[in-house]
Amino acid sequence: MQLAAFRKKLLGWFHRAKRDLPWRRTRAPYRIWISEIMLQQTRVAAVIPYYKRFLERFPNVRALANARIETVLQHWAGLGYYGRARNLHRAAKEIVARHSGHFPRELSAALALDGIGRYTANAVLSIAFDEPLAVLDGNVARVLARLGAVHGDLRAPRNWRQFERESTALLAPSASGDWNQAMMELGATVCTPIAPRCEECPVASFCRARALGIEHDLPAKRQKRATEKRTLAAAVLLNSRGRTLLMRPGPIDAAAEEQSLFSHLWQFPAMVAAGKSSKKNLAKMLSERYEMKIASLQSRMAPLASARHTVTFREVTLAPFLIRVQQLPSPPGVKVKTVSLISVSKLAVSSATRKIAAIAIRSLA
Ligand code: SF4
Repeated sequence: MQLAAFRKKLLGWFHRAKRDLPWRRTRAPYRIWISEIMLQQTRVAAVIPYYKRFLERFPNVRALANARIETVLQHWAGLGYYGRARNLHRAAKEIVARHSGHFPRELSAALALDGIGRYTANAVLSIAFDEPLAVLDGNVARVLARLGAVHGDLRAPRNWRQFERESTALLAPSASGDWNQAMMELGATVCTPIAPRCEECPVASFCRARALGIEHDLPAKRQKRATEKRTLAAAVLLNSRGRTLLMRPGPIDAAAEEQSLFSHLWQFPAMVAAGKSSKKNLAKMLSERYEMKIASLQSRMAPLASARHTVTFREVTLAPFLIRVQQLPSPPGVKVKTVSLISVSKLAVSSATRKIAAIAIRSLA
């Protein structure tokens, strides 16, 4: 491949065609770091409003480090994968404590921060400081597989090592930040997963898959993990003042499946249950854990509309029950708080909790 011509074509296209995204108007490492973390597993269009709001509230690393985790999670609520927000918060504290509030420029120091792996470190350091570090993720690997007509699973170790070598060899050393973004932009907008738009591609003349007419066959399809179905029964306890009870999982709940569905945030008491026995099992759990009387409970449990909720490979049916009570329980050993039902969605809660709250509010209208 004629490397200089390839680089010229791709960089020229990127400068002409790149999308105007908020994180492309800055080279501030803090802002680029926030964008890279938000963009993990989340679409660009979904990230933009969160990115703007987050930076209004936490305009610099010190503001983020000094904030309470609850506040950070509140500004993350709805983006999902809340571990990212917790890691951001911990890393901001480390940056203030160990790097005087400046995002470290050395790769090893960046990699030592919570939540920062090779891809994110390379992206931030190349875009903010033009460090000659190539990014490689599934998006870039797909482009490389097509350019080189590489068959087989992208993530197979042999292929991945080849992509690592190639992405480093292709990197334009004098403009590594732009180069990395150009590769990502090509994968996101032209060399897309399902139907690559080769007629618009600035590097089509260099592409072996295109030349061989196999661009639609690459990369090889991965075997999809089978979807697992779950029913999550949730209790919306409601007193006469419109207040409900949320619980926060403690360390002993950490491994429970329910917690991964609620991202370990404030949530309605809930349990994974087999479809038909949801009500009975939920009542049993409430009686054991929340010291509620099971006999009167079951008669007061009104099933609400169910909702679908998808978390990675799990397809979850949310099955909420409205339970009117005179007094909300205050069980020993469970971290709980009472809030008005209509304010639940303003808290740092997962989208599953929001959906349940919305269903309960609609049922009361
Ligand atoms: Fe992708 Fe088509 Fe460009 Fe090749 S020519 S890199 S397959 S968009």
